[in-house]
Amino acid sequence: MENAIAVGMNPLAFRFACSPSPYFRAIIFLLCLAPATLLLAQKAEEPGLMAAFENVDPEVSAEGMKIISECARRFREVTHHKAGDWTVRVCFVEKIHAHGMNLCSHGQLRGVTRHGCDGSTIQIATRLAAGQRSSWERVLAHEVVHALVREAYGNTSNTTLNEGLAEYIAGQMFPSEVRRDLHNAVWGASSQALIPYVEGHRFCSEHGEEKDFADFFAKAIKTNDIGYDGLAHEWQELSTSNIER
Ligand SMILES: [Zn+2]
Repeated sequence: MENAIAVGMNPLAFRFACSPSPYFRAIIFLLCLAPATLLLAQKAEEPGLMAAFENVDPEVSAEGMKIISECARRFREVTHHKAGDWTVRVCFVEKIHAHGMNLCSHGQLRGVTRHGCDGSTIQIATRLAAGQRSSWERVLAHEVVHALVREAYGNTSNTTLNEGLAEYIAGQMFPSEVRRDLHNAVWGASSQALIPYVEGHRFCSEHGEEKDFADFFAKAIKTNDIGYDGLAHEWQELSTSNIER
């Protein structure tokens, strides 16, 4: 019977498994567990998107997967882009270290996304500064959109559209939180840094459901940031040329 179990093991593992020492058996057991832990990355329901959560309970990662799937679904509706082979890594950190990034000035910053060549890493801060009340779910929804934008369009430079779409999609899922954050951004002390969030959200809310939005977004996300007024002007030009056609 023991021989039957050992079929498929490499000779070294077989020798250890047959060894009478309980220590060797424990080592074999741990060796068998190692590949299993590497498979913790889960597939979101939206096909093509892989996500891995680090250092969290299974309930948290299950909830996170639901949020990522929903973000990918809404992202596809708005941009017509389907998630491909991009991997999203999510880790919870006590505090975000945003060296060289002008992020700490955001009163409500709790998340940051960094992009690699085949995936993005999202950090979500667990320690709240005074006045921060955003839930990790709302932060994740916002950051996942940045990962999807990166996968779909590569490097982008239009911060207003990027932050705007992230707030627009997060706002469909967590409306009261996003409404409160945008309100605080308009009336709070650090409003200057948050203008792209507010203006971009406004633009996406106004046009996100219109049929030309996906094409418009694909072009405009690659161009320099021209703020709400610039985007509204370009949108107007597009509608006029469509009517003339
Ligand atoms: Zn953002």
